[in-house]
Amino acid sequence: MLVPDEIRCDVCGRQKGETNHWLQCITQPAKEEFPAIEGIGFGPIDAPISGTDVKVEHICCHACAVKRFSQWLGTLNTVERKIA
Ligand SMILES: [Zn+2]
Repeated sequence: MLVPDEIRCDVCGRQKGETNHWLQCITQPAKEEFPAIEGIGFGPIDAPISGTDVKVEHICCHACAVKRFSQWLGTLNTVERKIA
């Protein structure tokens, strides 16, 4: 039985096991054109990621993906309030 290198969910801390329903969450720093907006995306855990300035987090399930997206929306609201 081969267990992948110890991978833990960046939202809930659960350790990855044999099943592979995990996702990766990719965040990208704000660009010059849109300094207030940081991008976020989700994809399969084994999808190749390109780009040197992206941050990759491991997500164990859809519920944690929703939580992570909600956190990101929260930071966006903070940014909007700062601009207003
Ligand atoms: Zn999780």
